[in-house]
Amino acid sequence: MIGCENSKKSYSDSNKEKCLSDDVINLDQGDPTAFQEYWMKKKDRCTVVIPAWDLMSYFSDTTNVCWFLEPELEKAIKALHGAIGNAATEERYIVVGTGSSQLCQAALFALSSLSKVKPVSIVVAVPYYSTYVEEASYVQSSLYKWEGDARTFDNKGPYIELVTSPNNPDGTMREPVVNRREDGKVIHDFAYYWPHYTPITRRQDHDLMLFTFSKITGHAGSRIGWALVKDIEVAKKMVHYLTINSIGVSKESQTRATTILNELTKTCRTQSESFFEYGYEKMKSRWERLREVVESGDAFTLPNYPQAFCNFFGKTISTSPAFAWLGYKEERDLGSLLKEKKVLTRGGDRCGCDRKYVRVSMLSRDDDFDVFIHRLATIKDLKCNQP
Ligand code: PMP
Repeated sequence: MIGCENSKKSYSDSNKEKCLSDDVINLDQGDPTAFQEYWMKKKDRCTVVIPAWDLMSYFSDTTNVCWFLEPELEKAIKALHGAIGNAATEERYIVVGTGSSQLCQAALFALSSLSKVKPVSIVVAVPYYSTYVEEASYVQSSLYKWEGDARTFDNKGPYIELVTSPNNPDGTMREPVVNRREDGKVIHDFAYYWPHYTPITRRQDHDLMLFTFSKITGHAGSRIGWALVKDIEVAKKMVHYLTINSIGVSKESQTRATTILNELTKTCRTQSESFFEYGYEKMKSRWERLREVVESGDAFTLPNYPQAFCNFFGKTISTSPAFAWLGYKEERDLGSLLKEKKVLTRGGDRCGCDRKYVRVSMLSRDDDFDVFIHRLATIKDLKCNQP
């Protein structure tokens, strides 16, 4: 049996206790606390001290289209993309946001307000990141309208397709699916296009690309994201949205993000120190443990990902997504079944799919992940033991 006692990892007594306790484990949200251990080892290396007299102005650089972007953060973002090779930053405007959630809404506003015909349809291929539904419908804007699955979309008129690659929730690499009209725009969400999650096979070079600090390093609490935007009119509209919405982005957060991103870049080629080496090993080992449980029974399914050559690591590697798209072989509400075991997950229906699938965060703290693996093994065993 795979569980706390017999898995490869050795557990502390408190971990064992937790495995046997009946605490609720929340793997619904993708709170990226998995990497905290790495940052704790850095001790004071990335500590940021900001005197009270500093960073008081709303403004950062009034000559920049994104006037609230700290110049040092802009440099740090460009240097990191250059070092990893995952996205082109040349001839682009960088728009910083309070997380990429705010930037996604800014992009919907920008692209739709520049469209001659309104409302603009918003589509995403299923299974999709459930927050897009809320982002596209919550304010009931007359500029755009949520239209659901991109694969079945056949309305006339302009549309915006959101493409998440690797995809949240199922980890697959994605391309746009609605490619048929000139009045279509694409927002590429590359929250997880980093080498600890997926092989970096090309330098992405699209008109509008979103990235988030949250899912690179785990610093979701800083609320920093950025957009790489080719068209100045789109960048200006996005900045307009952010100006109305929050008059810019916290300078304290930008300063902290700059320090941490610079550390990533500086150490990314030093094997013992590189965050990406650490993150890759961590995610790989979690996926191995999850697959071991799933494959030792006949109850669950997981997607298989092709291995690919990663330009960053210089070798062929596997994919270890931030979420597991777990399926149940029988027609049953898997979310409810896991909830009975006090494991909270996001139901497939929230992602435009069937309830026999759930999205499970793979970015929790170690002890919560251990408990999840233990409880999943119990469900698998229960099912096998049924008459
Ligand atoms: N895009 C995707 C695909 C995500 O999974 C997330 C976080 N769950 C975000 C955007 C938003 O990230 P944040 O607002 O923290 O930058």
